[in-house]
Amino acid sequence: MRVSWAQLADQVSGCTACALCEGCIQKVLGQGDPKAPLMLIGEGPGEQEDKRGEAFVGRAGELLTNMLAAIDLPRERVYICNAVKCRPPQNRTPRPDELDACRPHLLRQIALVKPKVIFLLGATAVRVMLGPNYRITQCRGQWYQRGDIRIMATFHPAALLRDPRRKHETWADLKMVRKELLQQGAYPDLLS
Ligand code: SF4
Repeated sequence: MRVSWAQLADQVSGCTACALCEGCIQKVLGQGDPKAPLMLIGEGPGEQEDKRGEAFVGRAGELLTNMLAAIDLPRERVYICNAVKCRPPQNRTPRPDELDACRPHLLRQIALVKPKVIFLLGATAVRVMLGPNYRITQCRGQWYQRGDIRIMATFHPAALLRDPRRKHETWADLKMVRKELLQQGAYPDLLS
């Protein structure tokens, strides 16, 4: 079903499709340019995101902003969201049934943004967008195609904070995303 941004915001705001809504302060839909050529998908809101109503704030959010700046993209020019819109208790990984419940919201978001490239941040986003048999360590750094959209996966910024040795792999993935956006003529005022 095709919906407007306002309808989607209403649907998410009133959603009780899984138990995650019972423990969160607020739903976190996502933010950024609603027509961005690049869309980023993470796992779910953490404590700070739940408090502030924004995806990717705090230390992981700062790192993400720096990662984007490294490929010449200001954060406000991309669209950023998560696989689930409610904070899982104690920041645990969302369960498969919760991911399934929230997937329709995510698919409607993708249909509204119509990105050229989706950058998956971490194993949960990979599971939701590519399938349960894909492992982040195996599929990062490779292109996948879903309809007109090119999809690349890399490590979640929170994982990079825990294990900075992975940063060089993420840098390689970021450079591939930049090259693809450039080839597709996206962000002509920023990328050359
Ligand atoms: S996580 Fe998603 S599916 Fe579950 S209640 Fe929140 S908005 Fe609804």
